[in-house]
Order: sequence, then C-alpha cells, then structure tokens
Amino acid sequence: MSDSLSALENVHDVLQALKDGGYHFRASAEALERLKTTQMTSAKSATSMVAEPSPVASIRPSNAPSLTLSQNAAQSFQAMQAEISTPAPIRAPAVAGGASKAERLTALRSPVLACTKCPQLVTSRKHVVFGVGNPEAELMFIGDAPDSDEDLVGEPFVGKAGQLLTKIIETMGLRRNDVYLVNLLKCRPNLPPGADDKRKPTIGEIITCQPYLMEQIKIIEPRVIVALGSTAVDGLLGDPLPIAKVRGQWKSFLGTPLMLTFHPAYLLRNQSLAEKRKVWEDMLQVLEKLGRPISEKQRGYFL
Ligand code: URA
Repeated sequence: MSDSLSALENVHDVLQALKDGGYHFRASAEALERLKTTQMTSAKSATSMVAEPSPVASIRPSNAPSLTLSQNAAQSFQAMQAEISTPAPIRAPAVAGGASKAERLTALRSPVLACTKCPQLVTSRKHVVFGVGNPEAELMFIGDAPDSDEDLVGEPFVGKAGQLLTKIIETMGLRRNDVYLVNLLKCRPNLPPGADDKRKPTIGEIITCQPYLMEQIKIIEPRVIVALGSTAVDGLLGDPLPIAKVRGQWKSFLGTPLMLTFHPAYLLRNQSLAEKRKVWEDMLQVLEKLGRPISEKQRGYFL
C-alpha cells in the first residue's frame, strides 16, 4: 500500500477513534464513509500526485507518514476536512460588496470575539486574540497561540517572544503595523489550576479555530506567509516536520508562498549567533520574495 493510502487509513482510524471517544468535533458518518470510499477508489486511481499539501491541521498518529495525497483523495479529504473544521458557519455581519479589507476584518472580528466553540478556553481566557496589523499587509506571520501576555492584552505577540519578533520585523526595514500578526488559535490554551507554564494547542482546538484563520488569510491575501515554529508549521501543513531540518524552506499554503522558520521563543531560549543568523537568513529570503531592497548591512547581520 502506498504512503498516501496508509496515511488516509490513519486519518480514518484516528477520526473514528476520536469520534468513538466522544470528541466534540463534527465528523458525520457520511464524511467518514466518504474517506473510506476514497481509500478504495484511490487504490485504483492514485496516479497524479498534488505537490501542494492540503490546508489542514494534523490528524494523525505521531508515527504516521506525511500526507501526500492523490488529487482524488486530496479533494475528498479537503471536503471532509471542511466539514470537520467548520462546526458552524462563521456568522459575521454582512459587509457590502466592494467592502475594504479593513471592513471585512472588522466584520469578522465580532463573531471571533464572541466565539464559544472551545468551552475549556472560553472559561479560562481573559481576551480573544484576533490578530493585529495592516489589513493590506503583504506579509503575515503565524504563531501557535496567545500566551499569558497576549491573553491579558488581547493582542498577539506582545510578550517577550513578540517583542523579539517586532525587532526582527523592524530589522527587515518594516514596522509592526506594516505586517499582519496572527496565531493558529485565538484563545490561550488553558492550564490546570495553579500551573503557570504553557501548553501547545491540541489538534481539536486548531481544527476548531482554523476557519477564522482561513478567513483572515482570504481577506488579507498576503503575498508571503511566515510560519513561526513547529506547531504553526504542523497546524498549517498537517505535517509534523522537524523544524530544525525544514526551516529556511519554502512551502505553499493555499497558493501563497510559506516560509518555515523558528519561533522567536526558540531564539530567546537559544541565544547563539548561529541560530539568530538562521532566522535572519529566512527573513532575507522573505524580503527577496517580496522584492524589497536589502542593504549590505542587512545582508551581514549575525555573521
Ligand atoms: N507565541 C505565539 O505563538 N503567539 C503569540 O501571540 C505569543 C507567543
């Protein structure tokens, strides 16, 4: 059996197990059945492979092969994913045809701020962290989830890691207000009482929140997206790629060039010049892709 088929089988099994376990996402019997059918039909016709990964959060056991699906399988998978990842339509106030990106983002903001899809996060959050920046941004940075500082203020990337990200953006010759900053999750992942650490978003949380992020990307239409850290990479590509190996690589997310790089929090933990240079080289690639001028001084940072 090819990797793509065994991956689909894994997806089916994991979804079924989650559903059997009473997990709260909506995967109808029909959707699961469709996935099964896809496995069978793809066995006969899996010839043309799609280069672009489906825009899905990861649903797989940790040892499962990465998802490279046949066209047929990818379409069915995306249809099923759409059903799963859209537990309820986004009820944003209607905006007039021809509304600006800023107006469309403002309309989206109200249902996001009122979201109650993850009960465990609704009770623990102080703020929903929608996203911030220029609605017309050419460049979007995607992190994993708000931390305590972001939860307190209601704005992404305002804590220590965020301050470092802001410095990186400014070193690129941009202002924080020129780009758009957002996370996979709009709410801080909750913790057991008394704990002061942080936890990664769960797959269920990422899938539940995904329609909001997709809508933000659809509205802003950035020319380049940067995925910060392994959780963001996994959440966007549905593939747990080892960030140390894949950083600096271009992927594609819904047709938009996606640069994979370390999370700024990693640079706070590892302050070596060599690691800073790696992230900086990734940002130089981003500047090149955007066709922005790069000075000799900029080229030489952290060498
Ligand atoms: N880390 C993130 O990924 N996002 C934030 O907003 C803050 C810290």
